[in-house]
Amino acid sequence: MSANSDLAGGRLTINLAALVSNWRYLAKQAGSAECAAVVKANAYGCGIEPVVEALAAAGCKTFFVALPEEGLRVKKTAPSSRCFVLNGLFEDAAPYYLSSGLLPILGSVPEIDVWHSLARKTGTALPCALHMDSGMNRLGLTLQELENAVGDQQLMQHLDVQLLMTHYACADDIGHPKTLMQREVFKQAASLLPDIALSAANSGANLQNDGHAFDMVRSGIALYGGEALNNIANPMRQVAKLEARIVQIRNANAGDSVGYGGAETLKRDSRIAYVSVGYADGYQRGASNMGVPMRAIAPAANAAYGTTILKGVGRISMDLCGFDVTDIPEDEISAGDWIELFGDVIHIDDVARAAGTISYEFLTGLGNRYARRYVNIDGQS
Ligand SMILES: *Cc1c(COP(=O)(O)O)cnc(C)c1O
Repeated sequence: MSANSDLAGGRLTINLAALVSNWRYLAKQAGSAECAAVVKANAYGCGIEPVVEALAAAGCKTFFVALPEEGLRVKKTAPSSRCFVLNGLFEDAAPYYLSSGLLPILGSVPEIDVWHSLARKTGTALPCALHMDSGMNRLGLTLQELENAVGDQQLMQHLDVQLLMTHYACADDIGHPKTLMQREVFKQAASLLPDIALSAANSGANLQNDGHAFDMVRSGIALYGGEALNNIANPMRQVAKLEARIVQIRNANAGDSVGYGGAETLKRDSRIAYVSVGYADGYQRGASNMGVPMRAIAPAANAAYGTTILKGVGRISMDLCGFDVTDIPEDEISAGDWIELFGDVIHIDDVARAAGTISYEFLTGLGNRYARRYVNIDGQS
């Protein structure tokens, strides 16, 4: 859904030029490996269709989604692309894969059975990927299950395995010993299938550029400008910018309490700008300045008016939140103006941190009341 920007309380601007520039940067980091794009969860909230269209035009050939319905949207937008589906394979869904050309990623023995029996019915070898678990204990075949599958000639005749993949649990920490251990287990698994393309890296491992690329990287968050690695400066360009419209600016006195729960008591006479975005829009209540449990330990989310940083005031409500504009001269800001909740000045990861979470959750949770705009702005976003 895309609300009319004259009527909407918030507007979300997605810079496709920044997205493409991030993809090129990640492809360069991956060296000779292919750089696939992860576009699950509506391309991390940025919109599957415009994101896939822009990346396919830039040369991206392979996409990953979580669910088959997301995959159908990818195939509709970029019919000649390859699209792998991460979240398993159910028998009732399998025919849709066949008819649309989606590639299932088989990560359990029952999933292999589903694809195998369909292949026997069609009398062909059906294309797929195999997912092995190298230590995350989420989805994927154990090394033993993979060994059994590979040893089953009748089965392997019916599988056209295009990719063997695994997933790292700790790739956001540079050089984490668990990642190095998982890489060794994956190499062992790879030796069972000598001529098959390999993929292990998400954005974090892609950016670590430390022998994780194999034949294909699968980057998600870094494409969209989020932090993939802890404790380093984020090299990616900002892709998403969220702005909110001021409904009214009100005066309140030192000692007054503000908002639900009277959670914040003003320390000075203040002017507070209330904007038309709240937790119903995915601007999470946990990012409030006061009156939520985690606020004892972390600072609240800020906003910006131009380059002036605005402090959040009180609790974030369902459809509204307030920011302190006391230091901006009265004739310079008024109802109807837009302030930035994240984008060029306020980093999405800082807002996510304020809410006790990560930019992945913040982006994928953005609501559907925003007016969405797609732009192509080169240079600094
Ligand atoms: C989501 C996901 C990715 C992408 O991860 P990012 O950290 O966003 O780059 C890659 N592989 C798998 C299996 C995933 O589930």
